[in-house]
Amino acid sequence: MLSLRILLGLLLFAAFSVQLIVLSASPNGKARVYSGCTEPNKVALTFDDGPYIYENVISDYLDSKGVKATFFVNGYNYECIYGTKVAARLQKTYRSGHQICSHTWDHADLTGLSEAQIVDELNKIDVALFKILGINTTFVRPPYGSYDDLVRQVAYKLGKILITWDFDSGDSVGATVQQSEDDYDENIGEHVNNLLALNHETKKNTAEQLVPYVVEKFQAAGYELVTVAECLGLEPYTYVGPLGVRDKTWFCEEERSGN
Ligand SMILES: [Zn+2]
Repeated sequence: MLSLRILLGLLLFAAFSVQLIVLSASPNGKARVYSGCTEPNKVALTFDDGPYIYENVISDYLDSKGVKATFFVNGYNYECIYGTKVAARLQKTYRSGHQICSHTWDHADLTGLSEAQIVDELNKIDVALFKILGINTTFVRPPYGSYDDLVRQVAYKLGKILITWDFDSGDSVGATVQQSEDDYDENIGEHVNNLLALNHETKKNTAEQLVPYVVEKFQAAGYELVTVAECLGLEPYTYVGPLGVRDKTWFCEEERSGN
């Protein structure tokens, strides 16, 4: 009798698993794309292209102000994410409560890639974030904000959502700190309900000058500075486990091959 119940349970589990696989592999499914916050009075500052040397300059400052932000990181862009100091900086940022998300493995424009290459770009950074932080994230910012139907279909199969922005500080395309500050100023006030703002943690001026300026401005105007998950009313991760411990798999193939 007991074995029959176990058998029945296994059959039900198998049927459920098959259904899940079919659902996630739906050919018509496209990942959702969010280009702005949905929650009122919230500002999500986001920082792309790290992890890099200014990351904790930013996260330490945010911590001192009691606010949270979001970091969309690469596996191999400015630095290899598995580097000793690099991974330690990322763990510190994560432990402080900031949201860590995917910005793909090496910052390729996904719209130029095959399905297999897109999968590789998304999976390799996921593996790194799991190894280093013990997390699974659904949040992906496609490099350059660039995506098409194939990118959305592949992202959907992998359970991802795409996040772009509705405000660009311009810090990666030559804006001076003064220009970025002026642009932010135009997006503070009663006419602005919420903001999903693009910045880059790889820019010294952003870390040292722009971030303190905008945090104080938004706080003075009564906005709440939160993570992207919070400004969308979503969960930040699908899995949260213990922080990773370095092992011999923590390396970037690009560095071993001398690229
Ligand atoms: Zn980027």
